[in-house]
Amino acid sequence: MVIDQTLVAKITAEILAVMERQDITVNDGIFTTVDQAVAAASTAQKQLAALSIEKRECLIQAMRIAACENAELLAKMAVEESGMGNVDDKILKNKVAAQKTPGTEDLKTDAWSGDHGLTLIEMGPYGVIGAITPTTNPSETVICNGIGMIAAGNAVMFSPHPKAKETSIKTIRLLNEAIIKVGGPANLLTTLADTTIDAANEMMKHPGVNMLVATGGPGVVKAVMSSGKKAIGAGAGNPPAVVDETADIEKAARDIIAGCSFDNNLPCIAEKEVIVVGSIADKLMAYMQKYGAYLISGSQIDELLQVIMTEQEELKAAGCTEKPKKIYGINKDYVGKDARYILAKIGINASAETKVIICETSEDHPFVVEELMMPVLPIVQVKDIDTAIKLAVKVEHGNRHTAIMHSKNVDNLTRLAKAIETTIFVKNAPSFAGIGVGGEGFTTFTIAGPTGEGLTSPRSFTRQRRCVLVDAFSIV
Ligand code: NAD
Repeated sequence: MVIDQTLVAKITAEILAVMERQDITVNDGIFTTVDQAVAAASTAQKQLAALSIEKRECLIQAMRIAACENAELLAKMAVEESGMGNVDDKILKNKVAAQKTPGTEDLKTDAWSGDHGLTLIEMGPYGVIGAITPTTNPSETVICNGIGMIAAGNAVMFSPHPKAKETSIKTIRLLNEAIIKVGGPANLLTTLADTTIDAANEMMKHPGVNMLVATGGPGVVKAVMSSGKKAIGAGAGNPPAVVDETADIEKAARDIIAGCSFDNNLPCIAEKEVIVVGSIADKLMAYMQKYGAYLISGSQIDELLQVIMTEQEELKAAGCTEKPKKIYGINKDYVGKDARYILAKIGINASAETKVIICETSEDHPFVVEELMMPVLPIVQVKDIDTAIKLAVKVEHGNRHTAIMHSKNVDNLTRLAKAIETTIFVKNAPSFAGIGVGGEGFTTFTIAGPTGEGLTSPRSFTRQRRCVLVDAFSIV
């Protein structure tokens, strides 16, 4: 992404000057009914469409500044309200969303010229987008989707997760305020003062909403994909981290702990289980402990299972005489909690350096199978790379989301990348390198595996439109 830094500096100076003014009336984008929120967003979108792209970029710049300036406030609110994650990592996530989500430069025009004139394909807006956001990234997704959708010329009605709605609403207010202060339309971002699943469903069906973008678990992705509208679904992951015997084992251990512990394992891209070739497993676990892992074993693993997971009995199939199999779901009270808090629940008082709980398990253990979103990292030993690849594909569950591998064997890296078909494949780095933190490339907090847009950016929120001028404007 090449950004004209002189233009950015000029716009930034202008925005800061305007933001000094106190006499500006702010319309905050918060409504009581879906009809009102959609109507206001629709009006705002038409006003946006009448502005130049340069002005649009100015609004984006104002949003970036407001999000950065309030990164800490929003991080604290999110941890307080949702009870998940940690403030320092959320500050970083807010700043990355503000600074590394692409703007209008992401929109590209294709052109053909020849004997019959000039034909263009331009990326135009959809209109009003309905965006559903997760509890795990309540401000980050609003910042990222807000910048990307507005850069593409749209307005957006958000449906935030009810458990983190105050944080999302505050983010929407701050971004609207920033836009208005630099002369942009009111209500480019709207939402409801009281968000509910019913309201999300009403928004999905609303005729004034032209496109849907869902960031969350399988339920909401399925809901938008069944809506009959153009939909982008960014769903669940269960990213395996595979380590083979050629890896730099100490670096692999450090990177895995860094990725797995980031925001207490809330990110959908974070390492959720490790699959390691047996010959190096002990060494890997020893290094993990050096970098902040706490190893539990035997009955401690069973005790932890009873705490962080809920047990359900699978219903017997009709006529089946076998004993019902036990199945487990996650105990949401522990999602995004820190490792020491979780360890305390099984009577372990761990040191302040503890970031992740590690344990050796079988490949079909519930810790491996379920997307835990807690700093609890099961480690499965396998005999060789062939078994590791097969198991990684199995436990990723076909989400096609994210996988990580530590290896210096190019063939092994390539084989897993091909077999697992994930949207993000990170080699020899923590998972967050895959969204541009310590790795190249832009950032997104909406990774659309199920519908195939991949790492979404402004162009994902556009319609292609062809304009044909016959027998003119070709100059050769
Ligand atoms: P969730 O699915 O419980 O909720 C997500 C959003 O969808 C919320 O706003 C919720 O209110 C709404 N929702 C849920 N079910 C709905 C339904 N049937 N109809 C209408 N709305 C519905 O997810 P969560 O716990 O908030 O977030 C964690 C999940 O999101 C994890 O599975 C994680 O992997 C995933 N996630 C994915 C990405 C990505 O980019 N692919 C990013 C962040 C989180």
